[in-house]
Amino acid sequence: SRTNGLAAVSFHPATMEITERFAAIGTQFKVEYPGKATVGTACDTIHPPVVRLKNGEVIKVESRKQARDLERRIDEILFLGDMLVTYGEFLENGKKLLPSAYVEEWWEKELAEELEEQGVKLGKDFSERDPSPKEAFKISEKLGVPLHPKWTYHWNETSVERFKALYRSVQDDLSGEKTKKALEDILVQHKAEGAEIKVRKEDLKVLNRLLGNTDRKPELENRDEIPKFIEEASGIEVRDQAPHYLGSRMGRPEKAEKRTIKGDPQLLFPCGKKEGGRMRNLTATYNNKLHDEKGKVKERILHNRCTKCNEYTYFSYCIDCDAPANPIWFCKECDNEHNEEVEECEKCGNQRIERYKYTEIDTRKLIDNAMENLGMRNLPELLKSVRGMSGKHKHVEPIEKGLLREKHGLYVNKDGTVRYDASDIPMTHFKPSEINVPVEKLRELGYNKDINGESLENEDQILALKPQDIVIPKNDKTIPASEYFISVANFVDDLLEQFYNMEPYYNIEKKEDLVGSLVIGLAPHTSGGTVGRIIGFTEAKGIYAHPYWHAGKRRNADGDEDAILLL
Ligand SMILES: [Zn+2]
Ligand SMILES: [Zn+2]
Repeated sequence: SRTNGLAAVSFHPATMEITERFAAIGTQFKVEYPGKATVGTACDTIHPPVVRLKNGEVIKVESRKQARDLERRIDEILFLGDMLVTYGEFLENGKKLLPSAYVEEWWEKELAEELEEQGVKLGKDFSERDPSPKEAFKISEKLGVPLHPKWTYHWNETSVERFKALYRSVQDDLSGEKTKKALEDILVQHKAEGAEIKVRKEDLKVLNRLLGNTDRKPELENRDEIPKFIEEASGIEVRDQAPHYLGSRMGRPEKAEKRTIKGDPQLLFPCGKKEGGRMRNLTATYNNKLHDEKGKVKERILHNRCTKCNEYTYFSYCIDCDAPANPIWFCKECDNEHNEEVEECEKCGNQRIERYKYTEIDTRKLIDNAMENLGMRNLPELLKSVRGMSGKHKHVEPIEKGLLREKHGLYVNKDGTVRYDASDIPMTHFKPSEINVPVEKLRELGYNKDINGESLENEDQILALKPQDIVIPKNDKTIPASEYFISVANFVDDLLEQFYNMEPYYNIEKKEDLVGSLVIGLAPHTSGGTVGRIIGFTEAKGIYAHPYWHAGKRRNADGDEDAILLL
């Protein structure tokens, strides 16, 4: 798998589909072992799920598409499929390493060892394809290696009684309820036509070779003796396909969403407890008649003083003369004003000095001024802001920022940033086709060679992900990161042009233009961000990035979610 480790484990994509998409890429699972929590990623080279259909047929579900096609006809999921856990998870959690199922990788290692020891050449390469039953048996007979995993069933998952029925049945006509149950238990694909059971030709060869020896009587006490019996009867060793089962449940669903804070503000500016109404709507304050004059808000707000006209302003500049403003402090007791943060008021001796003052804010004037600056003619019906500014040194934002965020459908975080939250998913390698970016573009970003050192020519070559590159979500049901960041870029460009009178910076129209843009990845409760570069898009609800990048944010992939900010 190219997408696990750092606490993430992989499931077969068909497993995700067969659970009615309950499990998806990025879903957090609570697991029994070896860690406590994990996020699921996809790996299609592990054992897929096996299901029984309503008509009795048993099928290995090899792909998402097949799973979807079968969905309505499934009677029971007999096996959910393998879970791929990296060695590092056991090490990191200080847990005893559990034996793996007997998988292709083990078989290849044992085969290579035997070939070397016995000085034999195989003449065939099974690294890309599985051997046929005939080939598999020949290899086991000649070299004494266990039977290839593809043809090794979950032998000790059935009862002794059912196994005996199967054993007799293989030597006869393969029929009967117990035989069918045994085949379901050991996960052999088959169809049931009346009493008759039809298994695939290849599986029949395997069953006949392993159980076709009529000389022996299965004198078995418990199911764990079944593999040994098979080995004695057939001379072929069958290894355990499922030495351990792990229980898991969903922790929380995968996430990829714009970040909003309480009240969904788009601007950090007080709209008052009453004036802005239930919706905390700054627009509602524009015509409110709660005070002597229309369009006023009475609220505590931070004050500065203009260096030119010497009037109060709430911003770091004066909206009348465009000059910078200096911070001022007030005595909470006598309102005495100070030019610096003093220990105590020289007038009354009070030590409660603060930047705020309760005042009547002329929001009507401020809004008119901001609209004029932006050349905006209609005030949006809803411009969500905050009731009051609380906390130490809470600065208010120019109204223009809120108007432009509203225009672009953006929300503000309490520190004035616009963020997007998504589940952390690790990725070490990728194919250009998986991240929806053309090969030419990737070459521009420095991806010139694939993992084999071949020059990058087609979109199915595998590339090693650079540690600071990230892949963000697109085409989501909520606003995808790609769309949200296009809006952020447009917002910043509008702000530069219309508010700061500068040249636009991003000039982004479509998501492809975002490729190469830098972001900051930021975990909650940390202050150091990690720079990342957007290189592509997937439909997964989560951000794929190198394990180093997630680790750089002081996070792993056990269901954590972090924010990204366009830089
Ligand atoms: Zn001024
Ligand atoms: Zn005072």
